[in-house]
Amino acid sequence: MRRKIVAGNWKMNTTPAEGKALIGELLSKIADVPAGVEVIVSTPFTHLVPAAEQLSGSRIALSAQNCANKESGAYTGEISAKMVAATGAQYVILGHSERREYYGETDAILLEKTKLALENGLAPIFCIGEKLEERESNIHFDVVKTQIEAVVCQLSSEELSKVVLAYEPVWAIGTGKTATSEQAQEMHAYIRSVLAVKFGKQAEEVAILYGGSAKPGNAPELFSQPDVDGGLIGGASLVADDFIAIAKSF
Ligand code: PEP
Repeated sequence: MRRKIVAGNWKMNTTPAEGKALIGELLSKIADVPAGVEVIVSTPFTHLVPAAEQLSGSRIALSAQNCANKESGAYTGEISAKMVAATGAQYVILGHSERREYYGETDAILLEKTKLALENGLAPIFCIGEKLEERESNIHFDVVKTQIEAVVCQLSSEELSKVVLAYEPVWAIGTGKTATSEQAQEMHAYIRSVLAVKFGKQAEEVAILYGGSAKPGNAPELFSQPDVDGGLIGGASLVADDFIAIAKSF
């Protein structure tokens, strides 16, 4: 049985006080989520220390949304994987399309980040996915394959066992356009087949989340697909009732 995971990506939203209130609401409702479902929240960096304290002893895990591709030193404005781990966060989102697109994060940079995250005990939630024009040109499988081979296939199988993957078609992120459950299933199965070339049967154990305009209304159908192991949720993770409803959708 693979893990079932619902992770919220708050992006650049909420002040620390608003984040504290949102976590408070999630903690008050988390008992409604079946015990087998892992729930993660990814807050801005500024919230991590108090959020770790607030979540301590609960079943909600904590994630950062990024970390540096350098270990330490003269990199003004950066936050290292070691610093993130020291906050008490257990996960870090890496390779999100917004980081790839707006901050020029290449596969090479993402491999450095992924390695540093793992070395510092953080579990990467590694995002992959094609842009609209890539799907329309029918190269979406090749794009995703390249993203996986450049980073995930460079890891050892022990490292892979810590990684969660998130397939996020860029055209579905924040657009209200969700992939159909058939499109999600088709790509998730393909991702598993790419992993299997290097990792064999271990590919069956990797949790692959879907991300892109997932909502309480569409999550049950998406999560019912055999290779969809949960969701990475942006907008809907900022509304406690919606996020909890999604986590109850398996
Ligand atoms: C995301 O940014 O990871 C995401 C899936 O966003 P949304 O749910 O808002 O499309």
